[in-house]
Amino acid sequence: MNLILMGLPGAGKGTQAENIVEKYGIPHISTGDMFRAAIKEESELGKKAKSYMDAGELVPDEVTVGIVRERLGKDDCEHGFLLDGFPRTVPQAEALENILSDMNKSLDYVLNIDVDRENLERRLTGRRVSPTSGKTYHIEFNPPKEEGICDVDGSELIQRDDDKPETVKKRLDVNIEQQQPLIDFYEEKGYLRNIDGDQDIDEVFQDIEELLKGLHA
Ligand code: AMP
Repeated sequence: MNLILMGLPGAGKGTQAENIVEKYGIPHISTGDMFRAAIKEESELGKKAKSYMDAGELVPDEVTVGIVRERLGKDDCEHGFLLDGFPRTVPQAEALENILSDMNKSLDYVLNIDVDRENLERRLTGRRVSPTSGKTYHIEFNPPKEEGICDVDGSELIQRDDDKPETVKKRLDVNIEQQQPLIDFYEEKGYLRNIDGDQDIDEVFQDIEELLKGLHA
């Protein structure tokens, strides 16, 4: 079961990645997580990635493609994998085709969790967090017992700068612009499957399960 998971910020990609990995037992390969782990370890890779990540830029393809090639060669990928955050560019997608063909493998599906733009904005701008306990809430979908107050420690909830309306709009624009060429690439190749992400979390996962029914894990 060789999968790529795509989705804009707020689409629920993280939650569905957890569901897929748990049900099908395939490794979750997130390049962002790998870079963050490398930075924490202060490894050579971490040193290379850090300046780009701090600047909010993409890590160069040769570095990123290298770590993905190495990771996909590990034994736990024998029966499949779930790529998350990679590929981010068409050259990365082309490099992935080469990597997989060198391993006599191919993709099964590119799952794109598709959520209405207005809905994404609502999900992201409604987020609130407790600065002390770290617990997150949503003013509509997961409100605290008392408005604006953390259930855990009574602190006043704040809105992260990242979640302010103007920043959210900009973030979505940038992500859409980055993602579109990949959507087009995989649509043309016949791998793309749009999953309706405007539904409840459980319904989204049911649609994914339905799609993956015929595949071997
Ligand atoms: P993420 O957690 O997926 O948002 O990734 C965090 C950061 O890691 C990004 O902003 C990039 O700097 C870097 N990164 C993650 N995946 C890739 C990729 N496929 N290509 C280039 N840079 C990446």
